[in-house]
Amino acid sequence: MSLDNKPVYTGGCQCGAVRFRVEGRLRNVSICHCRMCQKAFGGFFAPLATAPEDGLVWTRGAPKHFRSSNHVLRGFCGNCGTPLTF
Ligand SMILES: [Zn+2]
Ligand SMILES: [Zn+2]
Repeated sequence: MSLDNKPVYTGGCQCGAVRFRVEGRLRNVSICHCRMCQKAFGGFFAPLATAPEDGLVWTRGAPKHFRSSNHVLRGFCGNCGTPLTF
């Protein structure tokens, strides 16, 4: 166990089929208003953050993926549709 007090975040989708754990500081916290994020989240914007490389672990299940454009692969719960990764 490391003793350097890395922040740890846990979360998951609405139905609980997919759970994750992130270790380390989140970066680039932002709100995206682009058309594809609006569609993916079913709202006006998408709240996004960058997880540290190798800091994200899926602790239950795994996201399904949808390629929403040439540059973007979006992960979501295949069961309930909650957006998870970008
Ligand atoms: Zn789900
Ligand atoms: Zn966007």
